Amino acid sequence: YSATVLLLDQARAGDRQYLLSFRDQTEARRLERMRSDFIANASHELRTPLASLSGFIETLRGPARKDEAARDNFLEIMQKQAERMARLIDDLLSLSRIEMKAHIAVKDQVDLAAILNHVADSLRPVASDLGITIERDIDPGPVNVLGDRDELTQVFQNLLENACKYGQSGKRVILELKQTGDMTKVTVQDFGPGIPDEHIPRLTERFYRIDVETSRAQKGTGLGLAIVKHILTRHRARLIIRSQVGEGSSFTVVFGPQKV
Ligand code: ADP
Repeated sequence: YSATVLLLDQARAGDRQYLLSFRDQTEARRLERMRSDFIANASHELRTPLASLSGFIETLRGPARKDEAARDNFLEIMQKQAERMARLIDDLLSLSRIEMKAHIAVKDQVDLAAILNHVADSLRPVASDLGITIERDIDPGPVNVLGDRDELTQVFQNLLENACKYGQSGKRVILELKQTGDMTKVTVQDFGPGIPDEHIPRLTERFYRIDVETSRAQKGTGLGLAIVKHILTRHRARLIIRSQVGEGSSFTVVFGPQKV
């Protein structure tokens, strides 16, 4: 805690008032720490592909100068590293844009059924490359909620893409939209390896990954679920993650009663 003592001299001689103000600094410290951890992590994530690029440039200018086969191979790796940096920068920019809008209330009516059908259509090629079928159980629209169309599209794109990437072994993914009473629920269910309990509370932290190598191999940045969390907070919606190791995982977004 920080305490500030202000001595207020009153007009009348000898009559002094003290104003004590207490402010909880533990929260401020925690936020400051999170910010500096984030900058350290982001710099590290960007430095890794950059270091690899520098290394390959050096090799191409030196020992591999005349080796055509090696050159093609190295250029391909370099292209992948550059693409990885671009993905990271895009996700970092998304996160910062979303954070800037965090205090602006969402006020448009958007049709979740249309958004989900659009997301499922656009991910169909990615899913079929991974050997996955996306099954839809979507209430016929319009299913309106108050929201930002682009942001909600990004939420369901991230969740569905994760289900395909990490639940690949399950061969199918279910995308469900249900309205019950004044609740609207969207569930993305996969039948992949599942997530051990201890990881679940941390999945929405920036750069948190269960297995960094698998995430990198799947072109992940570790920011997808952090972006999801930020967008849902702005929408006053909840994210419920359920998982059973060996059975699969489900990510449910719950929109509460809508006040127009
Ligand atoms: P990434 O860019 O690594 O995919 P995310 O923030 O989207 O980052 O997800 C964080 C981590 O959560 C992933 O690296 C993965 O380990 C885990 N994860 C996310 N979705 C699933 C899922 N459907 N099944 C198993 N693990 C998952």
